[in-house]
Amino acid sequence: MLIRKINDYVRPYKVFRDMRKNLWLKTWELETLQWEKFKTLLDHAYENVPFYRGLIDSAGIRPKDIKSYDDVCKIPTITKSQIIDNRQHLMAGNINLRNCVEYKTSGSTGKNLYGYLTKDDALHIRGSYERIRNENGFRMLRDKLLVISSPYRIPDRKEWYQYLGIRRIERLNVLEPLDKQIEILKRIKPDVIWGFPSAVKLLAKAVQEKNIKGILPRLIFTVSEVLDSETRNLINSVFSVELFDVYGAWETACMAWECDSHSGYHATMDTVLIEFLDEHGNKVKGGGRGRVVVTNLHSFAMPIIRYEIGDFAIPKYEECPCGRGGYLIERIEGRYNDMVKLSGNKLITPQALYTTMEHIIGISEFRIVQENEDKIIVYVVKTDECRDSIIVNEITRKLNRALGDNITIDTKFVESIPREPSGKLRSVISRV
Ligand SMILES: [Zn+2]
Repeated sequence: MLIRKINDYVRPYKVFRDMRKNLWLKTWELETLQWEKFKTLLDHAYENVPFYRGLIDSAGIRPKDIKSYDDVCKIPTITKSQIIDNRQHLMAGNINLRNCVEYKTSGSTGKNLYGYLTKDDALHIRGSYERIRNENGFRMLRDKLLVISSPYRIPDRKEWYQYLGIRRIERLNVLEPLDKQIEILKRIKPDVIWGFPSAVKLLAKAVQEKNIKGILPRLIFTVSEVLDSETRNLINSVFSVELFDVYGAWETACMAWECDSHSGYHATMDTVLIEFLDEHGNKVKGGGRGRVVVTNLHSFAMPIIRYEIGDFAIPKYEECPCGRGGYLIERIEGRYNDMVKLSGNKLITPQALYTTMEHIIGISEFRIVQENEDKIIVYVVKTDECRDSIIVNEITRKLNRALGDNITIDTKFVESIPREPSGKLRSVISRV
């Protein structure tokens, strides 16, 4: 009993220490580690998870047929709907769920995904985020961290050591009114902020406009939404920082992150296997846009193997000048559902639309909704400094130039842009 208790404290330390070391492995060492983990997970899933046994059998293969990265594509990919619909068959039969941690993700489709993690899976997921904060200068014991998140991620009570000023984590509900958020920000005065870019941007604007003094975070991390350059520049200049963007999801933990050389995103090769695929399921070349398909290498309670996460990204397949191993991802482009679809199968990414909307004066926030192939509605929360007609003309001119003249652009002014239940802002939605 006592030994188990001691192990409960020692194990996270060991896992975390090894995870930090992994970041400095050479690329070939990371590939070896990644491959070993992938094979272990695949064998486990085939032996113990009815869904994967059926899936792999239906493809006419066995785990032993998967001998190299080139063979991975023989395993069918899975979608979020498949995970939601087959939840019971996705649990590993050899793992006692009573010893597991349950998690929930809310999707833009309105359906929630419930998953399970073994304690060890959960350690790796938490570690995957904690180590990148530390790599970028977060002092785990001393820094006051403000996490901006959705309400259901906010725990009711603090741990005892947090009352002693150790590992101080404060949480801010992103769905609270902005005035209340600013009050919390002023009271907490965080050393480090972690949150959705849209939420940090609103706080940055408020700090700037209300000339609020004394908010001096040393580090800012943005996560879970596509970060556009205007938002990045605003946050950096208001808080005098160089923010770090992080790509992650609950089902997969941290998949990629920025270091201080800002040369792209480090793929976290020891916790996930990310593939970038074209429309035929082939690997895209460096610089090409691909669908992100991800395997969570620490998902033993409910394996996530070749999961179509719904995002597009551009891999770089180069190493970072910082000296850490592994390859870089050039850009995270956002969700497929959030891309504007034009005739001739042309896709316009949210990133491209953010760039188009940049520098239009008088816009505080916006949402672009593609209603059909020919019509786009832009919902705008305006600042006070500009006439409506000027904003409308500017939006129409810029979007028509980006998307073509045959698309009708309709601009509507609104009080606010509603957030997703998760608290995320979806700035682009396509109903096509
Ligand atoms: Zn780097």
